[in-house]
Amino acid sequence: MRCFRHADTEAVGVCGGCLKGVCPACAKESAHGMLACSDACVLRIEEAEQWRDKLQSARTQQRVNIWLGPTLYIAMGALFAAYGFQHAGYSLDLATVMGLLFIVYGAAYGWRMRQWSRRQLH
Ligand SMILES: [Zn+2]
Ligand SMILES: [Zn+2]
Repeated sequence: MRCFRHADTEAVGVCGGCLKGVCPACAKESAHGMLACSDACVLRIEEAEQWRDKLQSARTQQRVNIWLGPTLYIAMGALFAAYGFQHAGYSLDLATVMGLLFIVYGAAYGWRMRQWSRRQLH
């Protein structure tokens, strides 16, 4: 491949912004060490890199958020169970049973999310 500006010079790489061949005289480098043909392309590459970083941190965020659902179920179940237990004079009633079911469901939900997030990592 030849340089996009110098037709008789062999390119050392490809611009990461527009995929044109660049020779050593034309090549610029982005902050991440990618080749670029112009300042405009350096900006474009760096914007893309920033987007990628953002997406990556969003994905990390998601890994934390998966615990929100299960935790909510378990907390609600505990509240239900505690309320029902007290309300029924410290014996089992429907609210207590429902609360316990919520806790079991929350635990199963959390377990499933953990399996799921593990699969996403590989
Ligand atoms: Zn370019
Ligand atoms: Zn050139």
